[in-house]
Amino acid sequence: MEVFDPAELWSRERIEETQLVRLKNTVGQARKCDFYRQRLDEAGIGPDSLRSLDDLRRIPFTTKEDLRTQYPTGMLSVPQTEIVRMHCSSGTTGSPVAICHTQNDINSWADLMARCMHMVGVRREDVFQNMSGYGLFTGGLGIHFGAERLGCLTIPAGAGNSRRQIKLAKDFRTTVAHILPSYALILGEHLRNMGEDPREFPLRVALVGAEPYTEEFRRRIEGLFDMKAYNSYGLSEMNGPGVAFECLEQSGMHLWEDAYIPEIIDPETCQPVPDGEVGELVMTCLCRQGMPILRYRTRDLTRFIPGECGCGRLHRRMDRILGRSDDMFIIKGVNVYPMQVEQVIMTFPEVGQSYLILLENDGIGDVMRVQVEVRDEFFVEDMRALQNLQKSIAQRLRDEILITPKVELVQSNSLPRTEGKAVRLQDLRAKK
Ligand code: AMP
Ligand code: ZN
Repeated sequence: MEVFDPAELWSRERIEETQLVRLKNTVGQARKCDFYRQRLDEAGIGPDSLRSLDDLRRIPFTTKEDLRTQYPTGMLSVPQTEIVRMHCSSGTTGSPVAICHTQNDINSWADLMARCMHMVGVRREDVFQNMSGYGLFTGGLGIHFGAERLGCLTIPAGAGNSRRQIKLAKDFRTTVAHILPSYALILGEHLRNMGEDPREFPLRVALVGAEPYTEEFRRRIEGLFDMKAYNSYGLSEMNGPGVAFECLEQSGMHLWEDAYIPEIIDPETCQPVPDGEVGELVMTCLCRQGMPILRYRTRDLTRFIPGECGCGRLHRRMDRILGRSDDMFIIKGVNVYPMQVEQVIMTFPEVGQSYLILLENDGIGDVMRVQVEVRDEFFVEDMRALQNLQKSIAQRLRDEILITPKVELVQSNSLPRTEGKAVRLQDLRAKK
């Protein structure tokens, strides 16, 4: 197999040996900042106390709150003059989290990203269009540098502006794009409204990530454009994109274990969950000097996929993100994740690009409303057909989440759009 980096094909022994060496170096590096030195001293972890990978569990977790309190530069492990770039995590609430990188950090990040793209068949002959926001968001420059590292003609188109995206892609014959899942469907709809068939669009591969989406959503994107869509996972605290990526098998994302140590824990007990069970992903980066982060609580819920991948790579795979532990909502005593709702509604061919879950209180109790955009060609159907659709969506949702929401069918393009990550849930209960 042709690989971008020989580390992709390492044996488990080689991966684990390297992890231990790199973990020791990373802990040594982290100790150069006051925050970690104090934390590690309190936990009794000196420079030489890590003897095996199991000792990782003695290291205290790092949380988003920790990063917030150290904003802007409290977590630097190098003099600030060594830093060449910073990014921010895209959290919309609370104070920001800034992650700072040295030139080496940027280089190894670009290598990881190039590795991901190469794995799904992207080559220097490809024209790559980055349709995600630039600026502080890592999906812009993070992916951009990976594509350039691979040698692709790279178009930094940025987010939104479908007309311009389409023009650029046609003029340059764009074959590969990075696109947020919510935007992929919007772009396809835009093409259709222009009287064009999205399947004729030159794209053959899309890197799709940055926000949760279901397998059903992926199939829609693939069918719409007649292309392959590969799931891309990352978070600013661990650089950004390039942390885990699907291979051609499309059965889970390989976590690059030469660059990270992933763990999956029970968020309540903080103990590792048995292989294959869902829990919170905890990540340690192994290749960062500017701002190493140890055992970061991502809040993302996933599971390790047991067994070996058909592609032959032995880096463990994680399942698509089920949701964030802070995304889950409780309604009438039932725990629900927005992705369960998406999974159901995206199986209906009549459903358009977007949906929104609204939680309200009508004075008597909690009410869940699901607004679902319906594709134009179905919206003109007779009343009875629409009522039947509404009913069957509500029934199928009931089967999945055990409560019956109010389903409202709305016209396509009527729900609010964002240029960044889609907002799928509005909880208005507390505001009453
Ligand atoms: P940011 O704050 O911009 O670094 O966003 C990182 C977060 O985006 C992650 O912690 C996940 O919650 C989410 N995310 C990124 N990639 C994916 C993906 N492929 N699937 C689901 N969620 C994702
Ligand atoms: Zn694989």
